Amino acid sequence: MMDRLALLSEAKSLIEAERGRWQALSRGVWEHPELAYEERYACQRQVEELRALGFAPETPTAGVETAFRADVGSGHPAFAIASEYDALEGLGHGCGHNLICTAALAAFQAAVKLRDKHGLKGRLTLLGTPAEESGGGKVVMIEHGCLDGVDAAMMVHPSWRTTPDTGSTAVRRFDVAFSGKAAHAAGSPELGLNALDATLMVFTAINAWRQQLPEFTRVHGVILEGGVRPNIIPDRSRSRFYLRSAQEDWADKMEARFQDIVRGAELMTGCTAEVKSYHRPYMSRKPNSAMNSAYVEAMKTLGANPVLPPRPGRGSSDFGNFSHAVPGIHPYFAVTDHEIPGHSLEMAAASATGFAFDNALRAAAAMAVIAVRYLGDDDFRAQVDEAFRK
Ligand SMILES: [Zn+2]
Ligand SMILES: [Zn+2]
Repeated sequence: MMDRLALLSEAKSLIEAERGRWQALSRGVWEHPELAYEERYACQRQVEELRALGFAPETPTAGVETAFRADVGSGHPAFAIASEYDALEGLGHGCGHNLICTAALAAFQAAVKLRDKHGLKGRLTLLGTPAEESGGGKVVMIEHGCLDGVDAAMMVHPSWRTTPDTGSTAVRRFDVAFSGKAAHAAGSPELGLNALDATLMVFTAINAWRQQLPEFTRVHGVILEGGVRPNIIPDRSRSRFYLRSAQEDWADKMEARFQDIVRGAELMTGCTAEVKSYHRPYMSRKPNSAMNSAYVEAMKTLGANPVLPPRPGRGSSDFGNFSHAVPGIHPYFAVTDHEIPGHSLEMAAASATGFAFDNALRAAAAMAVIAVRYLGDDDFRAQVDEAFRK
């Protein structure tokens, strides 16, 4: 057993000692929002900080130009900390990923120092994982072996409140294009096939379907193209749908029904449909209960007031794929003291405040301690591994 309280206060001091560095990193990334797979500034910036701290990061890595990794030690146990840094179109850092990368680097640096100080064996890895909002950076990186030899993984994410990881939904995304036949809408409508109607029928069918879907699912869509002028029967329409489910078997069922709905719209309108996957699917997140308890305990000790939300998380994240491969959690830290929506301008503004930054550093200290305990506390590691097998 390791002294958790002593470790936590050591981690906090190590992180506080570099406070100015972390503040500048968070601010710099916040001021340079970059979309999925275009995070050149954020990637470079983190790589430079790591070099300045004496690490030897590798970039590009795992088949992704804006990914990086840094390793200290080798063999097992091996614990990985994930950094995210992509932004949202029109919202800047409306998901607060500037704080995620800051907390990840701060935690990694503190964990490495604690590993050395306590003479622990095993490996600590920092993974710079781009394109979380879309594009599935972690999915690509897993395919390229980024988790090979890794035994457990963790990251922290901003939210309006501090909570353990309450899971997330699997998401499958589809683009649907209907082709019909253009005709003068008044002069010769009988010669047309209305592709917009086909899309509207898909929406109508989905809205009826909702009543029979379990609470842990979500479906939402937008119309991307729906015709040009009212006096032309639209010969083409396009829409995009996200199907989400906290259970993988329901994700399969939903996908099958969705395909049937599209076929139905073809039959009803005489149009033809093309359904294509849009971005890689993400798996649901399976939070590790032992790591969650350790996070809540550490955040409580650090004064961050963690709460347990009344219902599980319904968003989606490519960390879901990590959590199926190895034990892992994706808990949250507060960026405000009142409820604000995720993916919003309010969230972007909150992610640049001192309040948010202080909590990001608390979450970093909690994460550093969890990493170090995984390496050096045999009982804790056994609990984590046992919870994963369940
Ligand atoms: Zn997001
Ligand atoms: Zn996010």
